[in-house]
Amino acid sequence: MGAHISTDVADGRAFQQLVNGKHADALSGERIDVLCPSDGKAFASIPASGEADVGLAVGAARHAFEAGPWPAMPAFERGRLLTRLSRLVEENATELAALESRDTGKPLRQGRADVTAAIRYYEFYGGAGDKIHGQTIPFLEGYTALTLREPHGVVAGIIPWNYPLQILARVAGAALAMGNTLVVKPAEDASLTTIRIAELALEAGIPAGVFNVVTGYGATAGAALSGHPGVDYVTFTGSPATGTAIQQAAARNNRGVTMELGGKSPQIVFADADLDRALPVLVNAVIQNGGQTCSAGSRVLIERPVYDRVANALAERFSKLVAGPHEADLDLGALISAKQRHRVAAMVADAEAAGIPVLSRGSVSNDAPSGGYYFAPVLFGDVPPDAPIAQEEIFGPVLSLFPFEGEEEAVRLANSTDYGLVAGIWTLDGARQHRVAKRVRAGQVFVNAYGAGGGVELPFGGFRRSGHGREKGFEALYDMSATKTIVFNHG
Ligand code: ADP
Repeated sequence: MGAHISTDVADGRAFQQLVNGKHADALSGERIDVLCPSDGKAFASIPASGEADVGLAVGAARHAFEAGPWPAMPAFERGRLLTRLSRLVEENATELAALESRDTGKPLRQGRADVTAAIRYYEFYGGAGDKIHGQTIPFLEGYTALTLREPHGVVAGIIPWNYPLQILARVAGAALAMGNTLVVKPAEDASLTTIRIAELALEAGIPAGVFNVVTGYGATAGAALSGHPGVDYVTFTGSPATGTAIQQAAARNNRGVTMELGGKSPQIVFADADLDRALPVLVNAVIQNGGQTCSAGSRVLIERPVYDRVANALAERFSKLVAGPHEADLDLGALISAKQRHRVAAMVADAEAAGIPVLSRGSVSNDAPSGGYYFAPVLFGDVPPDAPIAQEEIFGPVLSLFPFEGEEEAVRLANSTDYGLVAGIWTLDGARQHRVAKRVRAGQVFVNAYGAGGGVELPFGGFRRSGHGREKGFEALYDMSATKTIVFNHG
């Protein structure tokens, strides 16, 4: 990537949404200021769409599904267009990374990693869509029964602000590969790269109306989209409370949903673990993206004999962590918004007031603008398993440590929250790796490793409060389609 990254990218620009292949403002003309989390200042704006705008976008997507070439196109041709989109994302990588970083406050390094993952998603689904096929089923004498995988139709994608480029790519890649058309509502706090990707999709040759973007607030544009009767399937990544609202809206039309609702993911460190390998991963799994990651490893369970050693080593590492402006590319950037910083600070203050010991804190760099939404990382030790910081997703750079004695207690603690998204297991004992991996309740389990962001090939999703349905990998193609069974009576 080029050395001259301009983080002034998009200065003063009035972005427009993309409906039916055309740029559009909200019908009301209303706009939302786009704030840069690094200094809290407005640098661009997006349309504040409402129900009528959503109706136009759903209408365009429906028309493209019913009358357009998209669902009827051979899967390999759709795949070629997605592959072309991946190349265009690659060609525009510098601009996209700078835009994502400025819009979300994430360090440029993370913005670049997100672009790399987005390229891989479009590439993966570009190559995967023509490799999915149905079955022939042994049935009664004189009959032939077979299945086809068919697109749902119009898919609504409601995208969060933490990893817009990546989450859009996993949704759009799978949905489009299967022949669906899309209406995407990015988060009001981070919509810019979604608009750019929809522009690049058009440039790649994906027909007008297939990939629509409406921007606006969740309570207006998001609610209108999730409850729109013209939508056939809804996919959402975000908080459990918003997931409930979206499922209720979709349920009014009895539409299917995929929900990825975050986690309180444990990493279990047994006494025989290779600590040199584990320590940097334990830190990174919770500070990556400022802790604003669904799969953040926010609980570390440590076997008693090595508890002090691991806690001290983590405390030392936490004390050196520095948050700062995205272009400074430090350990972490600002949080997304004043609201989010307030939420994280309140949870940390409550835990301190309850007497949970703070083992270490990072810092905010001296040159960080005072208007930015910075929050210094915090490490808590000996956290009671029923404390709110042990049970609730914080979505900030806050790590909680818990001692345990033996495998039974490790599994019990790991499964002691209402979530079940990801888990990490650190042990060199092969039999234990298998036993514990089977017993932890999580959609993804890493052994002597941790990290969900990069693995576009790996099915991803949760149990219980973490949601349902699976994204990423080949599995997402099943979520983004439905089986049709056809039976022939040929006598
Ligand atoms: P946060 O509260 O931190 O913004 P959310 O999970 O609520 O996180 O937001 C994720 C996405 O859901 C955003 O695109 C947001 O606009 C959207 N959203 C929020 N509320 C609703 C709602 N009631 N209906 C549909 N979408 C919503």
